[in-house]
Amino acid sequence: GTALHRAKQAGGGRSAFFEQGMGEAAEQRFQVERTLRHAIAGDELRLFLQSQVDAQGQLTGAEVLVRWQHPRDGLLAPGAFIPIAEESDLIVGLGNWVLAQSCALLALPVMREQRLRLSVNLSARQFRQAHFVPQLRALLESTRADPRLLTLEVTEGLVIDDFDDAVGKMRELAALGVEMSLDDFGTGYSSLAYLKRLPIHEIKIDRSFVHDAPTSADDGVLVQAILSVASHFGLRVVAEGVETRAQADFLRQRAPDILYQGYLYGRPEPQEDWLARLSPGPLV
Ligand code: C2E
Ligand code: MG
Ligand code: MG
Ligand code: MG
Repeated sequence: GTALHRAKQAGGGRSAFFEQGMGEAAEQRFQVERTLRHAIAGDELRLFLQSQVDAQGQLTGAEVLVRWQHPRDGLLAPGAFIPIAEESDLIVGLGNWVLAQSCALLALPVMREQRLRLSVNLSARQFRQAHFVPQLRALLESTRADPRLLTLEVTEGLVIDDFDDAVGKMRELAALGVEMSLDDFGTGYSSLAYLKRLPIHEIKIDRSFVHDAPTSADDGVLVQAILSVASHFGLRVVAEGVETRAQADFLRQRAPDILYQGYLYGRPEPQEDWLARLSPGPLV
């Protein structure tokens, strides 16, 4: 197969790295990096959007999920290329592209008028850039996107990396009106201990908990605990990976005002398709 296929088969890379010898593994990675660099510079990345809805089923916005329209391998999910991009500064260019596209989307009248929010995922290396905040401020100004409609999703790992730097940037972003969300909440280690010190607005309950909440007493209790902690700290909650009515009902009974995201409400879809369903009004 292609270099990308081989790199994917190599998985985490460590064992394959030693089995195949340094030459081939390094060569594969190099190939993927090269084509990815080309994809970012060229026109091969796509924004996909996945709806978020409230308890009444009302659309509140979407999460931005990047895809790579690979000329040979077809449409690739982030799992196939984000980890590789994250090993170098490639992720910075990729992340900046996603942010720029997202701000352009937010600036569309149909988004502004309906107060629809976009959530954008950040990588650690991207957030750690010294100029991340001023660059985003400039982007918001040049696109005329409303910062109050933008949410940035970070993970616990990113925060732990350099806690003080992360908190400092989060405060600056909050001052701009940008909201912060803690993604995949519950999968890290020390969430509860530092939650009170983080200037965040939202947590996203990881889909592994959502999935098993109605059927596993353990996961049900964990979800309940996350909901009460979030409520105590005044945080908005998004349940991710909601696939069944039973999962949604479980959550709604325990927290009437959370947001929902998952296949039950819609799959990630090309931005054009997502926008086309918004009613009514011109797109530009
Ligand atoms: P995430 O931020 O936790 O995004 C949620 C993932 O769950 C998405 O996978 C989404 O397609 C999937 N999902 C949503 N609803 C359901 C459901 O009901 N069932 C199941 N089984 N899955 C569901 P996706 O699109 O493959 O993205 C994977 C990860 O890639 C994301 O996880 C995020 O960490 C990362 N990612 C995506 N776009 C970007 C980006 O622009 N920049 C960065 N740095 N990372 C990104
Ligand atoms: Mg996310
Ligand atoms: Mg998530
Ligand atoms: Mg997740």
